[in-house]
Amino acid sequence: MHRACVPSSVHGDGRFLLRRRDLVPAYLRAHDEGRLRDKVDEALSHLGPSCRACPRACKGVDRLANELGVCKIGRQARVASAFAHFGEEDVLRGWRGSGTIFFSWCNLRCVFCQNFAVSQQPSGAELDARGLARLMIDLQQRGCHNINFVTPEHVAPQIVEALPHAIAMGLRLPLVYNTSGYDSLETLKVMDGLVDVYMPDFKLWDEEASRTYLAATNYPQVVREVIAEMHRQVGELKADEDGLALRGVLVRHLVMPGRLEDTRHITGWLARLSPDTYVNLMDQYYPAWKAKTNPRFTDINRRVSSREMMEAEQHARDAGLWRLDERWRQVSEVEMLVARL
Ligand code: SF4
Repeated sequence: MHRACVPSSVHGDGRFLLRRRDLVPAYLRAHDEGRLRDKVDEALSHLGPSCRACPRACKGVDRLANELGVCKIGRQARVASAFAHFGEEDVLRGWRGSGTIFFSWCNLRCVFCQNFAVSQQPSGAELDARGLARLMIDLQQRGCHNINFVTPEHVAPQIVEALPHAIAMGLRLPLVYNTSGYDSLETLKVMDGLVDVYMPDFKLWDEEASRTYLAATNYPQVVREVIAEMHRQVGELKADEDGLALRGVLVRHLVMPGRLEDTRHITGWLARLSPDTYVNLMDQYYPAWKAKTNPRFTDINRRVSSREMMEAEQHARDAGLWRLDERWRQVSEVEMLVARL
């Protein structure tokens, strides 16, 4: 049932099919080839004596000594929640859910953040490398199809540190790096050969808007470099016989009210990177956090209209993108319930 309905945007003419039996998760290969230990050391060296784990490069902040920078996270990652997620794309959620680990705090300051309670306010529990590894194993034992790290930019070193423990405990699932795209290129080079699926969110093209809405003027420049690097590492999205993503880049773009020019530029740029880029044009923007209450952000204090979504899709198709994400998998309430037990 799950196999029969895989749309052509996922497999294409077979070019994007990767047989499950041929998959060796990237981090297992790195481990077997003896490259993982060096990667752990290098990743942790980004935390101090002056953190450069993300593009903020907080000068003088030594996270190895538990000091806090813009992201408010010290030596250990904090996890807000972990569960089988059925709200993700069909290529990730499958029928048993995406094994999602939501990290607390963030290195961006999006005024419209829908997860502000965990990204901009104290939340979650500190976990060391073994604790994080145990969480991955728990999600694997529940039957999840992958491990999906949400908001990993500021804790990428801690994720890498947890991998040898998770491998020793038996982790076999593909890893999904689910990011705002505001990552450091240095960190991404450490992740090269560890991540199976990159899922960056390309939010805005305009620098002034990025300053106003994300508190990161250089966001568009950073995210372009980051997605190009991700594409170099893992290429276009590939999925198994059941349409489950195993390797590649899946780009999300949250269409914003009144910002269709950003969408036009972003989809045009993605098509130039590769017309086979798999893209989810997301329609779920709603005003949250400061966008809902602060008069400075009146421009984005509304939902996106259906007309704007049609225009966004047209921009993507005009640019030459054709692998646009859609809902196609039927997942029953019973299946979701069982996965959440
Ligand atoms: S990860 Fe946090 S402390 Fe490190 S540079 Fe980024 S915002 Fe600053």
